[in-house]
Amino acid sequence: MISQYDVAIIGGGNAALCAAMTAAEAGARVLILEAAPKPYRGGNSRHTRNFRCMHSKPAGPLVETYCEDEYFADLMKVTGGKTDEHLARLAIRRSEECLPWMQAHGVHFQPSLSGTLSLARTNAFFMGGGKGLVNAYYRTAERLGVEVLYEAVVTHLELEESLITRVDYTHGGAPNAISPKSVIVASGGFQADIDWLARAWGEQARNFLIRGTPYNRGVVLADLLDQGVESVGDPTQCHAVAIDGRAPKFDGGIVTRLDCVPFSIVVNKHAERFYDEGEDVWPKRYAIWGRLVAAQPDQVGYVIIDAKSLNLFMPSVFPPIKADTLEELAEKLGLPPDRLQATVAEFNAACGDTSPFHPTELDGVATAGLTPSKSNWARPITEPPFYGYSLRTGVTFTYLGLKVDENAQCSTRNGPIRNLWAAGETMAGSILGQGYLAGFGMTIGTVFGRIAGREAAAHAS
Ligand SMILES: Cc1cc2nc3c(=O)[nH]c(=O)nc-3n(C[C@H](O)[C@H](O)[C@H](O)COP(=O)(O)OP(=O)(O)OC[C@H]3O[C@@H](n4cnc5c(N)ncnc54)[C@H](O)[C@@H]3O)c2cc1C
Repeated sequence: MISQYDVAIIGGGNAALCAAMTAAEAGARVLILEAAPKPYRGGNSRHTRNFRCMHSKPAGPLVETYCEDEYFADLMKVTGGKTDEHLARLAIRRSEECLPWMQAHGVHFQPSLSGTLSLARTNAFFMGGGKGLVNAYYRTAERLGVEVLYEAVVTHLELEESLITRVDYTHGGAPNAISPKSVIVASGGFQADIDWLARAWGEQARNFLIRGTPYNRGVVLADLLDQGVESVGDPTQCHAVAIDGRAPKFDGGIVTRLDCVPFSIVVNKHAERFYDEGEDVWPKRYAIWGRLVAAQPDQVGYVIIDAKSLNLFMPSVFPPIKADTLEELAEKLGLPPDRLQATVAEFNAACGDTSPFHPTELDGVATAGLTPSKSNWARPITEPPFYGYSLRTGVTFTYLGLKVDENAQCSTRNGPIRNLWAAGETMAGSILGQGYLAGFGMTIGTVFGRIAGREAAAHAS
C-alpha cells in the first residue's frame, strides 16, 4: 500500500484544485485522484463561466461595489431563507480575497461586461470559461508538485472511529489503496447516478438530462453516508433548468440552454399550456422551468414561437424546428395538430394591445381571461414560418451532501473526523438548502477548497 502522500484529494474540479494548490503551497505532498480521463478532467467546473465575488471597491473585472449584506440578501431571496448564515457569510467574505488569489494561480478574467443584467458588478467571468480556469489550475498545481492520477475512481474510504485509514480506488480497472494522512472529498454531487435520482424523484427522473459531467455519481458521498458521516440537504433538492430537449444525456454544458420561453407559448405533449411564460424577466425565471417541465407528462415541454420572435433571444446551438403552418410544426414536433392549433387560437384570442411590447423589460403586454395567463410579452402567434423547440429538465447539481463546519471538516454524530474535509458541490448543501444564486457554486468551491487544503496540510504536518 502506497502511503507517501500527506493529502489525497478526491475529484479533479475547481474545489479539488483549489485545495490541492493550497495544501502544496503549505508544504504537503498532494495526490489528486480524478475519475475522468485527462481530456474530460475538471468535472462541472469546466462548464462554468463566472464566480460571484464580494468587493468593497472596484476590483479587476468587477465594477462599483458589492458588499457582504447585499450579497447575503441576494442569497436569502433565492433560498427562501434556507441558508446557513454563518457558513454563507464566511463564503461571501472570503470571496473577496479569492479574486487576486485566482489571478495569482493562473486564472485570467474577461474585462467587465456591460449591459448584461448588472453582472459586471457581481460576477467575474473567466477568460476561456471554466475550461480555461481548470487548465490554468492544473498547470499551476503540477508546477507546485501536485501529482494527478486520471481514471482513478475512489470507491471507499475506510472510517475507523474518527479517522480515515484507507482510500480505495480503481485505476485502469485494477483495485488500489493508499493511506494518506489527510483526505479531502471534492467529488461533486450525485446527479449523474440516474438510479439515485430516480430513487429521490421517482421514475420520471430517468427522463432528465444532466448538464455536466457523467463522473459525478456520488460514489464517495454514498459510501460516507453509509458509514454514518453527517449529511445535509434533501435528495430532491437540486439546481435544474429547462434545456434543449435534443441535448445529450450528459455534458451538454451551457450551450444547450434556451432563452426563448418569454416570447413563446410552452405546451406539454398534449399541446396544452401549463404555466405563465411571461411571469418575470428570464434570468429570474429560467431556473424554475426545470421543475415545471419535470412535472409534465414524459417530462417534456415544447416551445412554440413565430417568425417575429426568432431574433429576440440568444441563438440556440441546434436550429429550431421550422414549419410554414402550425399543423406542420405539430407533426414535426410529435404534438396533436388539432390541439396545438386550438391552444394557439385560444392564446391569440386572449392577447390584447401589443403596442407597448418591449423584449427586455416587463412590458405588461398580457393576456386577458386565459388560464394560465401570460403576464408579459404576450403577442399573438400568427406570423409564419413557425418555430418549435422541445424542452427537457437539465440537472446542474444535487444538494444532498456532506455536512461541514467552518473548517470544511466532516463529522459523525460522535464528533469531527480528524482527517476528513469536504469542498465544493459535495458540501454545498451545508450552505444552500434550496434555490441557487448564479456564480455561487464556484465561490463555495474556491473558498472551502482553500480552507480544506489549509486544514488538511496542517493536520498532515
Ligand atoms: C453547464 C453548467 C454551467 C455552470 N455554470 C456555473 C457558473 O458559471 N458559475 C458557477 O459558480 N457555477 C456554475 N455551475 C456549477 C458549478 O459547475 C459547480 O458548482 C462547481 O463546478 C463545483 O465544483 P466541484 O469541484 O465541487 O465539482 P466538479 O467540478 O464537478 O468536480 C468533481 C470532480 O470529482 C470527480 N469525481 C467524481 N466522483 C469521483 C470518484 N468516485 N473518484 C474520483 N473522482 C471523482 C469528477 O470527475 C470531477 O472531476 C455550472 C454547472 C454546469 C453543469
